[in-house]
Amino acid sequence: MFELIYLEESIRYHTQAQAICQRFSAIPQVICGRYGEIFNRHGQNFRLQKQRPSLILARKFDHHVLPTPAGYGIGGTRNFYFSHMLNCIYDCRYCFLQGMYNSAHYVVFVNFEDFEQAIEAKIAEAPQEETYFFSGYDCDSLALEPITHFVEKILPTFQRFPHAYLELRTKSINTAFLLKQPPQSNCIVAFSLTPRVISNSLEHKTPPLQRRLKALQQLQKQGWPIGLRFDPVIYCDNFQEHYRTFFQDVFQAVDPLQVHSVSLGPFRLPKGNYKKMQNLYPDEKLFALGLQERGTMVSYEPQIEKELINFCKQEILRYIPLNRLFTCEF
Ligand code: SF4
Repeated sequence: MFELIYLEESIRYHTQAQAICQRFSAIPQVICGRYGEIFNRHGQNFRLQKQRPSLILARKFDHHVLPTPAGYGIGGTRNFYFSHMLNCIYDCRYCFLQGMYNSAHYVVFVNFEDFEQAIEAKIAEAPQEETYFFSGYDCDSLALEPITHFVEKILPTFQRFPHAYLELRTKSINTAFLLKQPPQSNCIVAFSLTPRVISNSLEHKTPPLQRRLKALQQLQKQGWPIGLRFDPVIYCDNFQEHYRTFFQDVFQAVDPLQVHSVSLGPFRLPKGNYKKMQNLYPDEKLFALGLQERGTMVSYEPQIEKELINFCKQEILRYIPLNRLFTCEF
C-alpha cells in the first residue's frame, strides 16, 4: 500500500504513530526531521509518486482549525475546517490537491489530541452558537480511516457539544465503524457524487457510484444524518440527460425528506493549481472544455456555468426543499 513510511523524529514514540508503524512493520521506515523536507522538496514527479506513494507521519504544530473560504458551508455562520491528512488515496482528475503540493505522498498528522483541543477552543468562543467543522478539505475524510482511526477518536468530542456539527466529506465506503455505533445527530456523513459517466472517466480509484449510494442508504437507515455533495458539477455532452438520470438514481436510493443537506458547486480551480494540473495531464479534456480565467480562479464560461447550475438546481428541487440546498458561490 505504501512504498515507505517516513516518521518525524518528534512523533516517533507517539501512540498513533507507533500503532501505524506496528501494523505496517514489513514496510521500510525512515526517520526524518520535519515532514516538509520530503513533502515540499522541489522537482518531485507527482504522477510517478501517485503510483507509488509513501506515508509520512508527522506532527502539526499550529493552525489545526481554520475558517473556511467564503461561500463554503451548509447553512451555519461559524464555519471551520481541519485536515488531519494531506493528499488522498483516490485520484480524481478535477481535484485541486493535484496542483496543491509538490508531492503525492500522504501526510498524516498523528497528534489528534491537538486537533481536538483546537476544535474545543473554537466551540468555547461561542458556546451557544452553532459551529460547523468540515473535515476532508485537504484529503478524503474516511478513505484512510481503517489506518488512522482519526474519526473514531474525534467523534466523542462532538458528543459533548450538541451545538457543534461535524461534516465528514467522502467518497469512501469505509463506513462499517459508523454502522457499529449509535448514530450521532451532529455528525453529517456527506458523500461526493457525480453521474456515472463522469465518475468513470475522472474519479480514478474511487468506489463506484452504486457502492457509494449503498453506503449512504445504510447510514441513513441507521439514523445517521447524510449529506449529498454535487460539487464539482462537470460539463459534458448531453449533461442534461446524464444529470437528470443521476439525480433520479440518487434520490431513489435515499429518502430525500431525511437528507440533512445538499450542496452544489461548479467546477472551479485557483489559477495556479489549474496550470500545474494542466501540465501534469496535458491531454485531459476536462482542462480544455469551456474554461476561462475569472479573477484568481479558472472556471466555466459564465453562460455554461449558469446553464449547468440552473439545470441541476431545478432538478434537485424536484426532490428536496430549497432550504436544504446550498450552492457554493465563489
Ligand atoms: S476523493 Fe476528494 S480529495 Fe480525494 S482525489 Fe477525489 S476529489 Fe480529491
